Amino acid sequence: MKSSDTNKISFTEIHQALPQIQCGRCDTPGCKEYAESIVEGAPINRCIPGGNETLKKLQTITGNIDQTLDHSYGPSIEPQVALIVEDACIGCAKCIPKCPVDAIIGAPGKLHQIDPDLCTGCELCIEPCPVDCIIVEKIKSNDAITLRAQSQERYDRKRLRVTSKKKKISLNSSSNQSVANLYKKLL
Ligand code: SF4
Ligand code: SF4
Ligand code: SF4
Repeated sequence: MKSSDTNKISFTEIHQALPQIQCGRCDTPGCKEYAESIVEGAPINRCIPGGNETLKKLQTITGNIDQTLDHSYGPSIEPQVALIVEDACIGCAKCIPKCPVDAIIGAPGKLHQIDPDLCTGCELCIEPCPVDCIIVEKIKSNDAITLRAQSQERYDRKRLRVTSKKKKISLNSSSNQSVANLYKKLL
């Protein structure tokens, strides 16, 4: 077996052991990136939302049994979903770009809502809300696991969309620059 195959198997196992909240508290953007960095040798103790349960799984997979949770990467995240208090939402749309799994629905100037079947409870939308109208509601642990099962797929789709949009903007701005340079030469 090639070493790249070994890495691939390790990555899959490690990724599956992570809780799929996509919160970025491990100092990587999401669970996939953290799994990749563990394969590359990063410490296995940074997923505080996964707690000791996740750490134990990672210890079994990697054989690294010496590390304890590094709480500087906390705080933890309870099984929960976020909700928008409808009467308070001003429709500013500042929460939408922060959601790693596209669980927030709404257009500028309109009331926003969170799809409870998609929310991982990551809390990333709370801080940017200027009127503090996003709250969290505790849910059962098993329900949270079910909700998070598809989060990587949605996370990947959102990142792909955002990256293509950025590329388009950068291409447009470089072509705008070329036009501006042409004008300068002509004047
Ligand atoms: S749940 Fe959060 S802290 Fe844990 S691996 Fe995923 S992104 Fe990192
Ligand atoms: S709605 Fe908020 S808490 Fe839920 S996944 Fe999106 S950013 Fe995270
Ligand atoms: S950031 Fe807050 S006020 Fe703005 S759209 Fe989102 S929930 Fe509504």
